[in-house]
Formats: sequence, C-alpha cells, structure tokens
Amino acid sequence: MIESKLRDAEQIAEKLVKDEGLSLPVDVLSLAASREITVVAKPASAQGVSGMLIRSGEQFAIAYATHIKSEGFQRFSVAHELGHYFLAGHPEAVFRNGEVHESRAGFASSDRYELEADHFAAGLLMPSHLFAAASGRYPDGLEAIRGLADECKTSLTASAIRYAELSEAAVAIIISRGSSVDYCFASSSMRGCKGYRHLKKDATVPRDSLTRGFNQNSKNVESAIEDGADSELNLWFHVDDEIPAYEEVIGLGEYGRTLTVITADIPADDDERDSEWSGPRFR
Ligand SMILES: [Zn+2]
Repeated sequence: MIESKLRDAEQIAEKLVKDEGLSLPVDVLSLAASREITVVAKPASAQGVSGMLIRSGEQFAIAYATHIKSEGFQRFSVAHELGHYFLAGHPEAVFRNGEVHESRAGFASSDRYELEADHFAAGLLMPSHLFAAASGRYPDGLEAIRGLADECKTSLTASAIRYAELSEAAVAIIISRGSSVDYCFASSSMRGCKGYRHLKKDATVPRDSLTRGFNQNSKNVESAIEDGADSELNLWFHVDDEIPAYEEVIGLGEYGRTLTVITADIPADDDERDSEWSGPRFR
C-alpha cells in the first residue's frame, strides 16, 4: 500500500516534467515561480531540517536549508517542498498544526508524507524517461552515476540510488561507514542472479573488499578519493555461481560515508531469465 503511494508520488512528478516540457537539469526555481511560490535560502532553524513550506492564505513560500553546501542536496530539498504543494492531500496534512511545515528530506524520516515528498523529488529531478536516455551515454558503474549527477544536478548519493533502481545492468550501490553497511540498493538484474541474497542494513563490509581498506583511512572519505579493483560478486553478496565483478569506491566528503558501486558481468542465460522481472528498464 505504502509502496504504491510512493510510486504514485514519483509518477505525478514525472508527469509534471512531461506536461511542463522540462529538460535536465530540471529547473525547480522556475517551476516554483510558475506557481508564484517564492523560494529563499536560509540557515536551518533546527537540526536535521532540510527546508520549510510556508503558507499564508493562498500564497506559498519555500525556504531551504544551507547548512549542507551541496547544490544537489539543496535542489532535492526544494523539490521535496514542491511535493507537499503538488501532491493531493499534502497541504491539508502538512499544515494541520500551523502554517509552517518543517521537512526532513533525503529519506531521513519514516513519516508517510515526508517519504512521498522524497519520492516526488526523485521523480522530479531524475524523471525515469530522461534519466534512462541520459544513462545510455555512459559506461555502467560509477562513471554513469557521476555523469547522471552532473546532468541532473543531483547529489552523487541520490543519483546512485536512482541508478540502481532504473539501470538494466547488474549493479548494486552500497553506502557504508567504517566497517558497517548503511544501506544497499541493487538493480533488478542484480537481484535476479541465482541465489542472490541482499546485503542488509548494519551488515559488515566484507573483509577483503576494496571498500573495507578504503574506509580505514578517513582522509579517503573526506577528500573524495576514488579507487577501483576487480572483485567477485560472492565477496559482497551470496550468489550460487562465481561471477566476476568490478568494485568502485568514492569518498562522500562531509557526509562521512563511502559510496561503493559493484558492477557484475552476469552470464547471458542469467540475462534472459532476468527479462521476466518487471519494473522500469533502460534501453
Ligand atoms: Zn516535508
């Protein structure tokens, strides 16, 4: 039920992009201006607040937090507030306790309306039809994620999650800190590998992985160092067959975490079986 609500929020944003004839990078400021919504930058009033939607009579205004310098994060915050404006039932819900709504964007909240607004933001900034077309111009893996982040003007993390969701390649992205996994997203093709078992939150980063060694030096993370090495899918995920993989890492700077991208070379017959999987696809 909640899953379909989240998908709806994403699709409403994607339809808006089509209807308004928007292209990448989606200009959230002109979209707000077209609805006479004022957008202002301001320091966050409370910890973890990414932005605010303010209502005064029929007028709306958005304030977005500037404590995280990343343009991608700030754009995501504005897009999240636009979600509360455009999604049915949101104004009623977010203004139930007053005329100012404080948001915690970036999948940091488990509140239904916050999550829907996050999915709206992902759909608005990285609409699947434009994202898929752009993705085809890059080789699979970190290079694609970086290229997409550049074209969409979204954070590396948000772009990586979207890439894992929409890519037709066998890829997984992992966000980790030290020896612990924060979360992992895998493409449908990756999840289709025989015997695949997903890496859960708080799992241990594999001892012999590039990521494990990389995370031991905090300078790697702070200075956004990159590295890559041949690996095996079995090192990261349980799968029945031995499948060669490539592991890429990049430090996420002030976020204090590492993005790992695993790209697997799955045999052709696994590819075919995968065609039974549903969901958005590339190419
Ligand atoms: Zn919100």
